[in-house]
Amino acid sequence: MDSIAYANIIRAQVAPNQIGKLVLELSGDIDQLDAAIEWMRSRHVNVSHTLGEIAINPDVCVHCGLCTGVCPTEALSLHPETSKLTFTRSRCIVCEQCIPSCPVQAISTNL
Ligand code: SF4
Ligand code: SF4
Repeated sequence: MDSIAYANIIRAQVAPNQIGKLVLELSGDIDQLDAAIEWMRSRHVNVSHTLGEIAINPDVCVHCGLCTGVCPTEALSLHPETSKLTFTRSRCIVCEQCIPSCPVQAISTNL
């Protein structure tokens, strides 16, 4: 049976007749992923891999928890006992949704 590649849309900012940005999580056979990326490029879609990382400034964060509400992977959470923000880097897909949610600009990326 042929294997199937899956695409999960993490974030979409695409307005009609404008340049937009999609953050996709792709999973499947590596050859199919390469073919999918080539297909997008053949239709003049710029494709880049996320190489940067999210950074949270502990001197600025006030542990309000607002960022945890927008994180799709639960990389951000409030510790159940201390109520302090916990960042599980291995779960982060660098979708950047948390950055604008922070009222004190404690979150940044080096993308
Ligand atoms: S970039 Fe922010 S919102 Fe996105 S997965 Fe990472 S921690 Fe969560
Ligand atoms: S939204 Fe900003 S201040 Fe609030 S917990 Fe998240 S990083 Fe900290």
